[in-house]
Amino acid sequence: MELCRQHASRFGCTVLEDYIYADQEISGSEERRGGYQRLLEAARARSFDAIIVEAQDRLWRNQAEMHAALQKLQFWRTRVFSVGTGTDLTDKAGRLLATVIGWKDEAYLEDLREKTRRGLGGQVRRGFSAGGRTYGYHTVPVVDESRIDAHGRPVVIGYQKVIVEEEAQIVRRIFGEFASGRSAKAIAHDLNHDHVPPPRSRPTQGWTWTAIVGNRHLGTGILNNPIYIGQVRWNRFRWEKNPETGKRVPRLRPRDDWVVKEQPELRIVPQELWDGVKARQAEDAKKAEGQSRRRRHGKYLFSDLLRCGVCGANYIVYNTAYYACSAHTNRGNSICANGKVVRRTRLEERLLAAIQEDLFTPEAIAYLCERVQRALDQLIRQSIESADKKGFERQLARALKEQEHIQEAIRQGLIGEITREMLEDVEGRIRELRARLEATSSPGEIVISNLREAIESKLKDLGRLLGRDLERARALLRDLLGTVVLQPTPEGVVAELRGNVEGLLQLEKALTGLNGSGGRI
Ligand SMILES: [Zn+2]
Repeated sequence: MELCRQHASRFGCTVLEDYIYADQEISGSEERRGGYQRLLEAARARSFDAIIVEAQDRLWRNQAEMHAALQKLQFWRTRVFSVGTGTDLTDKAGRLLATVIGWKDEAYLEDLREKTRRGLGGQVRRGFSAGGRTYGYHTVPVVDESRIDAHGRPVVIGYQKVIVEEEAQIVRRIFGEFASGRSAKAIAHDLNHDHVPPPRSRPTQGWTWTAIVGNRHLGTGILNNPIYIGQVRWNRFRWEKNPETGKRVPRLRPRDDWVVKEQPELRIVPQELWDGVKARQAEDAKKAEGQSRRRRHGKYLFSDLLRCGVCGANYIVYNTAYYACSAHTNRGNSICANGKVVRRTRLEERLLAAIQEDLFTPEAIAYLCERVQRALDQLIRQSIESADKKGFERQLARALKEQEHIQEAIRQGLIGEITREMLEDVEGRIRELRARLEATSSPGEIVISNLREAIESKLKDLGRLLGRDLERARALLRDLLGTVVLQPTPEGVVAELRGNVEGLLQLEKALTGLNGSGGRI
């Protein structure tokens, strides 16, 4: 940040204190970062003329994202200065340079990934372990006796897995109990009860049922690892970032890319036991289908917006059909006694209706117009005062000092054509600066004629958006409502809608970009 400040003048910029964005420790390829989103919104709103960034990778970590964003920024007439390259990324030369740099970084990373993968794949093909500890096995070094290293010891050419018998017994116990119908939770509880050391030597945490079941499709979890029937697989999936959430998710590679090596000496589980487990998994999967379609948190319109009126914790989606207090649900009655649940669809319908009817009334819109107008006036005044007035005052002070010097020179007898001209010049400038300062301290009223229409049409847009783009609609709702508090009453749950006016204002800024007319560098 300091670096950008220092370089601002080099690019002919003044830093606006209200528009400083930081995304600490968040990777550049995560497009949906909060600060970055606000930055784009502000650029769309023409809140400033230029963005100064330390390096392009602070904003984008891949080419597609960068080009898409630069196109938009160019359209909004916002320039992007990179301190790193000293160029404007939105002009032709700067963009070319950015492309070359970005391409180099990406190619480098891809290259490194590929090399690592190929190296390990080769190890597996030769029957060596590709690394990583697997429950049931030890890894031992394999040496080539014919080659001696600098310390006089045989050269290690790879590592090999060897069965650990007591762990192998536990693996067979897990497979056996699961095949006979016990749940993974019950198996984990029993293992902990019997003080069986868990994988990865974390004795305090014990066995977890997830370590046992894992994910069938990704081949994770003890029940899905084919090494237990003597098949060593490698290169089944790669990790990719989901551009929507920024989370890294595993993607299965095509089967042709898999490296499978039969190593029967590593088999721990008899084939019929393995088949029994697979049969039960297939059955379970069939049952679960249809039940767990939209279980993931964050898929619902009001996720993160609802609060428990008793303890203040989030209301979360519970069993896909209900909202319930998360403290009550996850930690129990002793933490929060609010056991009231609300049917999800009903709550969503009612809240949306309330938003439409109570918040988008003519009074609310009139109030909003007034607030936006006032905010605009203030913004314009502020920008003139802060940017221009200070500048004028500085220039005036300088001119007055200059005048003093010239007058002193005249007093000392240094009268001549030049000093007289200088005096006239400086007096002229002083008059002009004084007039300008006069003008800036009383700016006329600025009226935006179609403000009301603009606001109304954007609120209608929001209505349409609610049906389509869940993520964006939820962000707008958050601005609009702040949070919604759910109070349990004897009759049921009452939602307190607070109609956050500050939020409306923010929303308005984001939607229309009206605040941009005043803010400028
Ligand atoms: Zn609660």
